[in-house]
Amino acid sequence: MNIVTDLQEWLAIRNTLQHKSIGFVPTMGNLHAGHLSLCERAAAENDITVVSIFVNPTQFNETNDFANYPRTLLEDQESLAKFNIDYLLLPTQESMYADQYEIQVNETSLSQILEGEFRPGHFSGMLTVVLKLLNLVAPQHAYFGEKDYQQFLLIQKMVGALFLPVKIIGCETVRARDGLALSSRNSRLNEVARERAAAFPRLLSSDLTVSEIMNELAKLEFKVEYIAEKWGRRLGAVWLDGVRLIDNVAI
Ligand code: AMP
Repeated sequence: MNIVTDLQEWLAIRNTLQHKSIGFVPTMGNLHAGHLSLCERAAAENDITVVSIFVNPTQFNETNDFANYPRTLLEDQESLAKFNIDYLLLPTQESMYADQYEIQVNETSLSQILEGEFRPGHFSGMLTVVLKLLNLVAPQHAYFGEKDYQQFLLIQKMVGALFLPVKIIGCETVRARDGLALSSRNSRLNEVARERAAAFPRLLSSDLTVSEIMNELAKLEFKVEYIAEKWGRRLGAVWLDGVRLIDNVAI
């Protein structure tokens, strides 16, 4: 696995890969089995696999969340070494935002509801960085987790609207044994809260109605932001012990 931090160097390498199919997995690091399932699939379906780790400041709507986001580069490199990854891109904040954040991608409809309502600016930051990364890597296939379902739909929408020559591939959510969707933020839960967190996916995939689920979660001391049924999924966001969890299941 070649590690590339300099974008000019990367673009020169990219030029040498003209006749290869490229699979791309963008991440913010602190890799777990969810991220690695995307990497494994990309490696199986393409000649060349590129993974990026970039903790994107513009998609955090709380400065503390950005500052405290787990950064575990050495462990991440070790995890990736077990897969057939060709390039790991580690761009710097300065090189990604030489425009001083003055160019941004805005979507005006889907990005305003659910996650967008509770995390103002999040989707604009996410779409902007994903567009930059897709332009840099120019992959045929890019892999995203269905865990962030609204994000996945928005990326598909952007790719269609801007005629980007890439296929967006959604990958199933990887869960812990007790059903909790793997997430870098889970490590912020203490042992007791981590055990209690399993009630969230359990209720989300139960036969209860949306309002019954909200009541049950409140009884268990989750702070519910939303539970909603849309796009053939039931989606939710909750806080538990100061940690924000999101998840969705097919209905
Ligand atoms: P992140 O590092 O959180 O930006 O996530 C990078 C990619 O991994 C995104 O496409 C996520 O949707 C995906 N991802 C995160 N958690 C999971 C999971 N538990 N299962 C599958 N994909 C995931």
